[in-house]
Amino acid sequence: MNLSATDLDEVTAVVLAPNPSPMTLEGTNTYLLGSAGVGEVVVVDPGPDLGAHRSAVEAALADRDAAVAAVVLTHHHADHAAAAGWARQWGATLHAFTPALVPRDAEALLDGAVLRRAGLAIEAVHTPGHSSDHLCLRVPATDVVLSGDHVLGRGSTVVAWPDGDMADYLASLRRLAELGATALYPGHGPVVDDPDAVVATYLAHRREREGQVLAALAAGDVTPTEIVLRVYADEDPALHPAAERSVRANLEKLMAEGRVRRSGDPDGQEVGLV
Ligand SMILES: [Zn+2]
Repeated sequence: MNLSATDLDEVTAVVLAPNPSPMTLEGTNTYLLGSAGVGEVVVVDPGPDLGAHRSAVEAALADRDAAVAAVVLTHHHADHAAAAGWARQWGATLHAFTPALVPRDAEALLDGAVLRRAGLAIEAVHTPGHSSDHLCLRVPATDVVLSGDHVLGRGSTVVAWPDGDMADYLASLRRLAELGATALYPGHGPVVDDPDAVVATYLAHRREREGQVLAALAAGDVTPTEIVLRVYADEDPALHPAAERSVRANLEKLMAEGRVRRSGDPDGQEVGLV
């Protein structure tokens, strides 16, 4: 019995990568998708290029007597995609929304495309916001959505400005809600059993953060760094650089809406309420 992989349902197993951090929670979840007895799996997010993780994934493959038919990246961030090169070594195809962003030759998997491998149909749903190339992957056989870094198993995610976009992110949350998934399998953290409630919480969290950013500006903060120190004062300082990306994403959205303007300082850092 291979203990490196955990079965989540009849077609999905997860292997946790040993890359825990404040950003990645317990580590990156690498998913293996495949119908029983087909002898193939699709690997979603091979994760960090670590020997111990590769051994764990390959032990799970051996345990299932399965070969890798395809590797799919939810997005290009290194904690999900650094091991993309394993696809070629496994003789598998590699798929991503924006091949130019990933480190290896990949085939474009565009919104609405269906990958038919390992006895399954896996539907690509473009959900930009966390990153421009983010995909959620819907598995109709189980009504589950693999949510990557769009929605995590715990806490909230980063809108990684400038590649990430807050208005896109909010639209992608609404799109995820419309999929009506019974569960989300996130890129980090545990399974989300109540997707509707969690997506509603994420939307409320973003509204709250936007209100806090506006309040910080009203209180006299003028730079993203000042806003982070006020709004994220209770958070682990290790998360502040990521928080600053989300604050910048908030400010870009508010500027696009005409509610915030640049102050015209030489560094282009300062902003204020309109
Ligand atoms: Zn990411």
